[in-house]
Amino acid sequence: MRDDIWHEGLETAAILLCDPKRSGDDWRLVVREMHVVPPAACLVRTATAVVVDPAFGLPIEKKGRVEGLSLVYCHTHPHQTKHVVFSHIDDHAEIELAKYAEARIPGIPHCALVFGSEAETARRLGTEETVKVTDIPHETASTYDRQIRAFGEDGQSALARLRLGVVGLGGTGSVVVQQLAHLGVADFLLIDPDAVETTNLNRTVGSTPKSVGEPKVSVAARMIRSVRPDARIEEIEGDVVDEGPAKRLTECDFVFCCTDSHASRHVINQLAYQYGIPAIDMGVVVDASGSTVTFAGHVKALEDGEACLWCLNHLDPKQIREEMMTPDQRKADPYVVGARVVQPSIISINSTVASAAVTMFLSMVTGLDAPARFLVYDGNRQRLSGVVAERNPTCNFCGPDSPAGRKDLEPLPVRRHG
Ligand SMILES: [Zn+2]
Ligand SMILES: [Zn+2]
Repeated sequence: MRDDIWHEGLETAAILLCDPKRSGDDWRLVVREMHVVPPAACLVRTATAVVVDPAFGLPIEKKGRVEGLSLVYCHTHPHQTKHVVFSHIDDHAEIELAKYAEARIPGIPHCALVFGSEAETARRLGTEETVKVTDIPHETASTYDRQIRAFGEDGQSALARLRLGVVGLGGTGSVVVQQLAHLGVADFLLIDPDAVETTNLNRTVGSTPKSVGEPKVSVAARMIRSVRPDARIEEIEGDVVDEGPAKRLTECDFVFCCTDSHASRHVINQLAYQYGIPAIDMGVVVDASGSTVTFAGHVKALEDGEACLWCLNHLDPKQIREEMMTPDQRKADPYVVGARVVQPSIISINSTVASAAVTMFLSMVTGLDAPARFLVYDGNRQRLSGVVAERNPTCNFCGPDSPAGRKDLEPLPVRRHG
């Protein structure tokens, strides 16, 4: 909205008509219409003042009266940036305006909103009672209508504000980012060291035969942009067990762990507790070594108060040690066994687990009623169940004597070179 009315040198104004919604003792005003005041409808317009011709406001105020809508009178302060305050002139002018609005449309709140170049401040008209302003992306009302009906405008704006870290853009990660982009997440940090191979095409959402050789993070970024052209996306073609990429994850608000490497899950597990950044770990196992194919998966929230992956015995120290080695260290170590066996992988199974993870994320962020924080997928029985995860009170990774909550005071368990 600021972009629609902002003028570098002169004050400008607009009048909003809003749906007033009561929630408990509070009101929420959702903007329905914006009427920008054209220069011709300004009686005074300088760098420090704007006076709107009452004739401009009349039909808008009339519509508000007929439909029971709140009025929000907006103007700009071109010389204010982040620190935005109402002036004495504003204080004075609002006394009459408040009486007028209350008389025309009684019983609902009306507000004043003033924009600086980088921030804004709002209050109930004619009072010192401040009002919180939340930005919902432009096309929200129509694009996200069906979602907002499920988890509200607050939930939607929470999604739009989050910086999401996604580690691993393969079988589950590519599905996760596709769903997040559709949900309205707009800020991504993508981490994966690998390029797409021909054998990945069967399950990497967003890839095409032309993607072979391209970094997985780039394929994912392109797919996100195709859904949300305005998304902010940072691609790191690197390994999260290295210090650089791991440190960058601490800037995120939420992390998805979509790798099958024990070392990277160990790093993210610790990061989640140490920095208090909620994360979701997921995994899929398809085993075709026996006479029948068995398949299963899990989704686990990692956050304060929840059992961590070590509490669950989900991590193998020996495998972590091997994965943490640099290629040279690996070559020099006689205990490292050769290349790992290639596992089968099926897109629909990955997607079941990825979808369960994204729904858990929605529950954690928007309050959607889905309280399970540990889900186990029994593929052969087609059953997805919430499981109670016992927390080990003496856990070295999430317990009271662990680095949990210590942020930068402790180093992350990243790969040591040399
Ligand atoms: Zn002012
Ligand atoms: Zn633990």
